[in-house]
Amino acid sequence: MQFRTRAIHVGNEPCPETGAVVRPIHLASTFMQHKAGEWREFDYSRSGNPTRACFEESIAHLEGGAGAMAFATGMAATSCAMAMLKSGDHVLTGSDIYGGTYRLLHHVSNRAGVKTTLADSTNLDAFAAAIQPDTKLVWIESPGNPRMTITDIAACAEIAHSVGALLAVDNTFSTPVLTRPIELGADIVMHSATKYIGGHSDVMGGVLVAKTKEIYDELYYVANATGAIMAPLESFLCSRGLKTLELRVREQSRTAMQLAEWLAKHPKVANVLYPGLPSHPGHELAARQMDGQFGAMMSFELDGTFEDAKRVVESTKLFRLAVSLGAVESLIEQPASMSHASYDAADRAKHGISDGMIRLSVGLEALEDLQDDLQQAIG
Ligand SMILES: *Cc1c(COP(=O)(O)O)cnc(C)c1O
Repeated sequence: MQFRTRAIHVGNEPCPETGAVVRPIHLASTFMQHKAGEWREFDYSRSGNPTRACFEESIAHLEGGAGAMAFATGMAATSCAMAMLKSGDHVLTGSDIYGGTYRLLHHVSNRAGVKTTLADSTNLDAFAAAIQPDTKLVWIESPGNPRMTITDIAACAEIAHSVGALLAVDNTFSTPVLTRPIELGADIVMHSATKYIGGHSDVMGGVLVAKTKEIYDELYYVANATGAIMAPLESFLCSRGLKTLELRVREQSRTAMQLAEWLAKHPKVANVLYPGLPSHPGHELAARQMDGQFGAMMSFELDGTFEDAKRVVESTKLFRLAVSLGAVESLIEQPASMSHASYDAADRAKHGISDGMIRLSVGLEALEDLQDDLQQAIG
């Protein structure tokens, strides 16, 4: 069955009791048992909940994994994966990773003795050289943020596996519509379901998908022990989001491609960072690794100052000035003052985050309206 058919049907069988084509939301915290010590499928909602199980079944299938777990946020999912590690273990991450992941590893996981190295995952030789004998986990993101760098997932799987480490991929930006890391050799896929999976800026959630039953069991043990699971209403909203995921991502990517081409020709735009453009350094790899389209996230650099970029992000009307991404409404932000403000100026320069950079999350509005909005703002 095709992706969009599975997104609607797998994990969404009608309610066996009533025939309701949409399953009820199970709010129960506990489940009555027939006999003491003999457990039915569900016993307590931290350990397992029917509404959450439906969403987990759908996303595991769409990513091609043996099992999935849903969490309260993306960061709860990431911290569950990190909690598999013990003191002395080493994590190698790409340098273009989500700021919250950077903070977790450098300021929280380090307290438990977990060591972290950042290296440029687009330079495979440098990345492989940063691996250590005690590297247990390699963590990458593709496309990265905010420069939309593309990382070779299959090559990183080989690098990780050469020392017996697992490869985890934060697939939030690409979604399983465009990239399925497990097919490329990854062991764990992570999502902030807050973004494309929810898709409507109205739910927080996270997901881990495990390639094998063994990895799933290990993650499940930590998830159940630490307890940051996804609640029933959120699970329902995420299941609903998955049903339209492919349509949204494909249409948003189509609009993004056209906007990127238009921006690239704009006299006041110095540079557009979108993997769909042949000028992007990751274009060829993205064309191989992503399924026919390049996502709906992009950044561009104005031929101007910090103040000029600030003025543009403050004068759009349809593009809402906000962090986050992946929803039906388009968002705009200035990395230097918003998503990446915690970097000092020297670090921003080192990571290629210029003062004139603007990041877009392209939504489902009409191309013409989005173009007009950017035109009046850029002037
Ligand atoms: C938002 C985001 C996260 C964190 O997810 P939350 O749901 O905000 O906790 C992690 N990775 C990426 C790429 C994100 O965009």
